[in-house]
Amino acid sequence: MPERFYVTTPIYYVNADPHVGHAYTTIMADVMARHHRQRGEDVFFLTGTDEHGAKVARSAEEAGRTPREHADALSARFRDLGRTLDATNDFFIRTTDAEHVAEVQRILERLHASGDVYRSRYGGWYCTACESFYGEDDLVDERLCPIHRRPVEWLEEDNWFFRLSAYRERLLAHFDAHPGWVLPQARFNEARRMIEDGLDDLSISRSQISWGVPVPWDPEQVVYVWVDALFNYRTALGYAGPDAGRFWPPDLQLMAKDILKFHAVIWPALLMAADIPLPRRLAVHGYVLKGGEKMSKTTGNLVDPFPFIEEYGLDALRYYLTREIRFGEDGTFSAEGFEARYTGELANEFGNLLNRTVNMIGRYRDGVVPADPGDDAELATEVAGTVARVRAAFDAVDPTRALEEVWGLVRRLNRLVEERAPWTLAKDPDAARALDGALHALAAGLRAVAVLLWPVIPASAERALGALGQDPARTGLDGAGWEGVAGARVAPVPPLFPRVERQPA
Ligand SMILES: [Zn+2]
Repeated sequence: MPERFYVTTPIYYVNADPHVGHAYTTIMADVMARHHRQRGEDVFFLTGTDEHGAKVARSAEEAGRTPREHADALSARFRDLGRTLDATNDFFIRTTDAEHVAEVQRILERLHASGDVYRSRYGGWYCTACESFYGEDDLVDERLCPIHRRPVEWLEEDNWFFRLSAYRERLLAHFDAHPGWVLPQARFNEARRMIEDGLDDLSISRSQISWGVPVPWDPEQVVYVWVDALFNYRTALGYAGPDAGRFWPPDLQLMAKDILKFHAVIWPALLMAADIPLPRRLAVHGYVLKGGEKMSKTTGNLVDPFPFIEEYGLDALRYYLTREIRFGEDGTFSAEGFEARYTGELANEFGNLLNRTVNMIGRYRDGVVPADPGDDAELATEVAGTVARVRAAFDAVDPTRALEEVWGLVRRLNRLVEERAPWTLAKDPDAARALDGALHALAAGLRAVAVLLWPVIPASAERALGALGQDPARTGLDGAGWEGVAGARVAPVPPLFPRVERQPA
């Protein structure tokens, strides 16, 4: 039985069009999913849209649509984004799916039966943009939402509450027994501190909103949109395909740091109450910044990823985001940085190296990769070491480090070309064995590079494999070894990363 790997993105809130922040999370999840498929694992990758709540109802009204029409239109935009990014998600969940709604209601019944749900009066400072209540201490400046820096309103209503406060000890015990369960460590500490400082019970229903999942025993109320949304990771497996339930619990849940509390505190407590096993690992990433600020609809500094895809190609965007923004930290998106990595790394260091290698094998060895004369044991060991380090980086949910490891090999191979100078060896009949060794080493090294890069730049990696005379569909990690490239017939290809004439602003 292959190992299973279940990875999720947060479901995206259909209140605004997708931007590069959404693209980033989806690409990271796709890179992780593809890497684990390379290992031969049984992978399930889930993404989707979060479609209930007051904010959607209000935006729909402003757009002159019903909430359903509005959700349909925006959800389709997110689904298109995934396709544009070549995301290999196995399912796309919508919280308006009838199956999701029914299962949320069944889980709510279980929570109700557990005795941890009660009715009470609730009052708090409410930010409609966050769909969240804040305590007085959480607000900033003159009673502004700490995220949106917009005025909050005092709201009071009779709600159903979840006894989150009762889960303090169990949550702490879980954190202490699973030290790596939230990555990076700083986020683990932050979440643990929230729990240690004491938890307020959570209002899990709303009476003043109608666009949501009705509370099964009190249909006058709808389920709080965050509770509805969190359970998507669970409900999707009930109808995503035959036997999808085998993937529970998630191995890796990705999210941005602003939703840490929902995922690392509230989510595990809700699962404990419903007697459902907890996810194995949460990985929290930073923000994609522009000009030093978080991109958001509110600040109006959104980067549209589509012009970059149009000019440079999808793989360039996938590469840039993975390489530039160290997973777990904030990183800056800039057109200049994009251009520099595209030209310097993808086009020159990788693309040119591939073309030169294929051309030299064509010119000096009639297009056939020579047999390994066995002179490059050190390089063979280095390739194997790179594969092992890339695996370890992915195990640590550090795709940026994985790319750095691959790039170490790319640069090693570029040095090899300069050191061995195959064009000089080709002039000397006594150097035939040395030339065979250099060309074989380049072909074997580049094949490993292509396989290791495949999760990040799948289309380009497949073209590179084709150029090296390999089956482009064979992207498994077992194809990153030193052996087996001899005798392959190379096929020249146009540059993988051609010069870009017009740069997006
Ligand atoms: Zn807010």
